[in-house]
Parts: sequence; structure tokens; C-alpha cells
Amino acid sequence: MKPFAYVRAATLQEAAAAYASHPGSRYIGGGTNLVDLMKHGVETPETLIDLTRLPLHDIEELDTGSLRVGAGASNTDLAVHPLVRSRYPALSQALLAGASGQLRNVATTGGNLLQRTRCPYFQDVSKPCNKREPGSGCAARDGVHRDHAVLGHSAHCIATHPSDMAVALAALDAEIELYDGEHGTRRVAAADFHRLPGDHPERDTVIRPGEIVTAVLLPPPAPGSVSLYRKARDRASYAFALASVAAVLVLDDGRVRHVALAFGGLAHRPWRAATAEERLTGAAPTGEAVREAVDAELAAARPLPGNAFKVDLARNLACDVLATLVRSASASASASGAPPAHHRP
Ligand code: SF4
Repeated sequence: MKPFAYVRAATLQEAAAAYASHPGSRYIGGGTNLVDLMKHGVETPETLIDLTRLPLHDIEELDTGSLRVGAGASNTDLAVHPLVRSRYPALSQALLAGASGQLRNVATTGGNLLQRTRCPYFQDVSKPCNKREPGSGCAARDGVHRDHAVLGHSAHCIATHPSDMAVALAALDAEIELYDGEHGTRRVAAADFHRLPGDHPERDTVIRPGEIVTAVLLPPPAPGSVSLYRKARDRASYAFALASVAAVLVLDDGRVRHVALAFGGLAHRPWRAATAEERLTGAAPTGEAVREAVDAELAAARPLPGNAFKVDLARNLACDVLATLVRSASASASASGAPPAHHRP
């Protein structure tokens, strides 16, 4: 590993000042991805700025009813928090579907968002990779790309984003809070935080140089909303998604009042399914309507020779997740005296 300097920050201001005075530095939280990449020579920062002493570990309900999750909160603490389990089950399920128990104990909320792709060519410095070394080429395109993107990829990069948590946050309309010493604090919708690769696959997110992820904000769930995360992978645990789905559903008088659908494992960012959502909103969520909406979304897919199976996998997952949520929302509505949705899976 290349030698590096180490700075421990106690406040946000200290961290921002350290970044300003150490060009080429990287922030570190749990380090579960960054340290691996440093060992492989993929990341070679001159300086690491340790953020773990910053007061960013709390998970608290705000007066607005939103939940504010400090960027330093561990994936385990977030997954098991009572308000997350009761109000945002898709988020808890997504977190528990990621990594291993040991990693979740150390990995932070901010670090989870900022983890890099697990494209094997990105992690192998002997191979060309536009994300690691812009302009060097993409070894995956003509190589092994079974795990790679089918939506939104570019000629420069076909990588997928590995986070399960980010997919749930996109469906839950969460916001990411960012801080830098010059501009202060801003918020970005979780669904807009990660980028498609375009001409600049080296940039995973819209974060500006030196900005720090300080929190994730989850809006209060709509009355009657239900949510679910489901992930398809090669092993039952400790594997990245071949495809995953996070969905939130609210029914009103047997019709869809609100639906949010996000795919993971299919693109360079969590893929919020705007076309499917638009088709389903206001409709009776029959099996046929759900299939048509999901098919309309996945019509944009451009699979590569080795990963066409992902489109069928994602379609089946999405239809199954939405059917499950329709049953769940209908059952809640019947319990409260409202008419059920007529769903035929
Ligand atoms: Fe690099 Fe992206 Fe190509 Fe993988 S898919 S080799 S990350 S450019």
C-alpha cells in the first residue's frame, strides 16, 4: 500500500479545513471499501481524513416527523432502529441484505452511499478502466459482464452501483445532506445523488470536491404506505445484487394513490422507475397493469450479450414485489374498513 498521511477531525469545520489544506485527500468512515481499494492500489490518497470522531452518529426523529440519520451511523444501527423497522421496512431489509454482519457493524451510512463499483476490472489495476483511469478504455464491455448494467450505461462504462441501501433510499424519497466549508449545507434527493456514467464514469455521484455527507433525511411515510425490498443474487448472503427492487405503495379506494419503484443492480445508480410509476398511479393495480407498467420501464433496457437474463429477473422481481405490496396494503385497508384492491397476480 502506498504511504499516506492521516488526520483525525473532531468537527465538520476541521474536516473541511483539512481537505482544503491537503489536496488529493479522502475522507474515511468505516473504511470497509476504501481500505480494500487502497490495498489494491485503486485508491491512492495522499492523506486520509478520519470522520469517525465527528458527531454524526445519531438517528433521531425531527419535529417534522422526518427521520434524520447521521452519516456516521453504522449500517447495523440503522437497520435495527425501531423507527426504521416500523416506518421504513424496505430500508431495514435492504441494509440487512447487504454485506455481512461484521461489515455492517463498521460500515457507515455515508460510506455506504459512497462505495465504489465492484466491477472486477475496476479493482484490477492491470486492466483498462475508464472509471479508474479516464480514457484508458473499458475492459468489461468485451470481457465478463454478467453482473453489469442493462440500463443507462454508456460507451465509456457499464458498471453498476453496489449499494442496496441507496436503492431503498431512492424509493423512499430520502434526501442526502452535504456540507462543505465554503458553501455550508445543501440537500440532494437520494434518487439524484448517484450519476449515470455518460462521458465521465470516474464521477459516481454529484458530490463536489471536499463535500462531506453529513446525514440522510427520510420523510414521514404517507398514512397507509407499505414498502418492501427484495434482492436476487448468486448466494443467499454476502453477495451483490444481480437485480433488486425497492418499492413503496399507497392504495386509495382500490387504486394506486402513490407508488415508488427503484431497481438496483441494473445501472450505474439506483434506477427510479418513473415510467412504471406514472402508468400505475391512479390505476387499479391488477397483475396485468403491474406487468405492463414494469415492461414499459424495462423497454429502455439495453442488455449486453452476457447479461440479458437481468431484464427478465428484474421484471419478475418487480412484479412480485408490487403484488406482495398490493396484498399487504389491501389487507391493511380491509382491517381499517376500506375496500380492497382487486389484484390478480
Ligand atoms: Fe471500468 Fe466501468 Fe468498464 Fe468496469 S464497466 S471496466 S468500472 S469503465
